[in-house]
Amino acid sequence: MRLVRTAGELRAALALSRAEEIGLVPTMGAYHAGHLALLRAARDENDLLVVSLFVNPAQFDSGDDLTAYPRDEERDARIAAEAGADILFAPSVEELYPPGYQTWIDVEELSRGLEGAARPGHFRGVATVCCKLFNLVRPTRAYFGQKDAQQVAVVRRMARDLHLDVELRVVPTVRDEDGLALSSRNVRLSPEERTRALALHRALATRDPNRARELLDGVAVDYVEVADFEPRVLAGAIRVGDTRLIDNVVLEGDPE
Ligand code: AMP
Repeated sequence: MRLVRTAGELRAALALSRAEEIGLVPTMGAYHAGHLALLRAARDENDLLVVSLFVNPAQFDSGDDLTAYPRDEERDARIAAEAGADILFAPSVEELYPPGYQTWIDVEELSRGLEGAARPGHFRGVATVCCKLFNLVRPTRAYFGQKDAQQVAVVRRMARDLHLDVELRVVPTVRDEDGLALSSRNVRLSPEERTRALALHRALATRDPNRARELLDGVAVDYVEVADFEPRVLAGAIRVGDTRLIDNVVLEGDPE
């Protein structure tokens, strides 16, 4: 696996590879089995596997959340290599947002509700960094987790609206045995908070927004709503201590 840090190095590595089908897995690191599922799918379906590792400041609405975000590049690089990544693109913030940077992508409607309402500017940051990564890597396929259903909807809309020639592949949510959706933020939960966090999936698993809200009585709920994405989901966000957790269940088609 080659570790590259600049757009120039990335382009050179891609040109050398002469791969026909390139899979891109955009990540912010702190890898868990959810990331591994994306890496596995991308490895299976493409000649070349490019993984990006970038904690994108533009998608954090809180400086504290950005500072507290878990980072361990050495461990992530080892896991990516073991999963068969060919190129790990781990740029600095200055590489992607140099002084004078001022171009942003705003997927207007889909960015507004749910996560967008709770985290102003979040999806502007997500759409912009994904567009930059798509332009840099020119992937045949890009891999995203169903766990972040609104992110998928926003990136899909952007790709359509801007005629980006990339196929989005969506991987089902990977959960712990007790149902908790894996998330890099779970490491911040104390054992007692982790137990409380289970309420979110238990509530969403009813697939009934009213019942889910009842079950979450006493929990700090940001929202529990049916969202008309492709596919439709029952999505929710709660706060447990200082940690904000999101999850969703698919309401049609495959159960997850
Ligand atoms: P992140 O590093 O948190 O930005 O996540 C990188 C990608 O992994 C995103 O497309 C996420 O949706 C996906 N992902 C995160 N957690 C899970 C999970 N538990 N199951 C499936 N995909 C996930």
